[in-house]
Amino acid sequence: VKLATIRQGTDATTAGRVEGEEVVLLPFADVGALLASGDTWHDAARRAGPRVRFEEAQLVRPILQPSKVVCVGLNYLRHILEGGGAVPDFPTLFAKYPDALTGPNDDIVLPSSSDCVDWEAELVVVIGNTVRDADEAQAEAAIAGFTVGNDLSMRDWQMRTAQWLQGKTWESASPVGPVMVTADELGGPRPDRRIQCVVDGTVMQDARTSDLLFDPVHLVRYISTVVTLRPGDLIFTGTPDGVGMVREPPVYLRAGDVMTTEIDGIGAIVNRMVRSEEA
Ligand code: ZN
Repeated sequence: VKLATIRQGTDATTAGRVEGEEVVLLPFADVGALLASGDTWHDAARRAGPRVRFEEAQLVRPILQPSKVVCVGLNYLRHILEGGGAVPDFPTLFAKYPDALTGPNDDIVLPSSSDCVDWEAELVVVIGNTVRDADEAQAEAAIAGFTVGNDLSMRDWQMRTAQWLQGKTWESASPVGPVMVTADELGGPRPDRRIQCVVDGTVMQDARTSDLLFDPVHLVRYISTVVTLRPGDLIFTGTPDGVGMVREPPVYLRAGDVMTTEIDGIGAIVNRMVRSEEA
């Protein structure tokens, strides 16, 4: 099942199930509200409802306000090696605030205070039920599905200190979407799919989600040891090699660039970089 959140009018949004060329509207404000409706969300997601054309639907991010967005750094071997790091024993965890998120087709404003805005294509786990101290089976069951994200990073800010937060949680700079695809439709909770980031027609990242060192189930177990994961929470699982920072010379996003982040079976988010009004 493919679930989306679409804009209806100026302020309202609604969840929907994508069926071919159409979206079947569901009585929830977003996919997050659908997942939070309880263990029967699978049934709720299959309900009948009014239909709109997918092509005309204005997609917003599937989960509007996750209670938390947990991110993982250094989770693809070739990305660790390109950065000169050692293979970690544990996942490198950091966080984004929900204000960092933006829609799958939204423009991204390049801040005037950073010259080093870099892409990071990522598989994003969407949590479907509440879990704490999950075992293997509970962790698998807690994964509702997956979406595509770009952990856009202001590298100059990220590297100012040992903690990365300020370079990772820039407001409205992490696009997510276009849909959440349920785990069963992607072959289970450890999908093996092609993941790519293309900037203005140049393929910058090209890998498989099965290359993850710490897979989605491992991450849910690990993170839920620390904190309760709740329906709609997101886990950005880390980016493969090919980021701009390590290129010779480094390559960063510029105004006018169109960044396409895509995972086979989920879809693509397409975001144009625009200049800050203050710039
Ligand atoms: Zn990342």
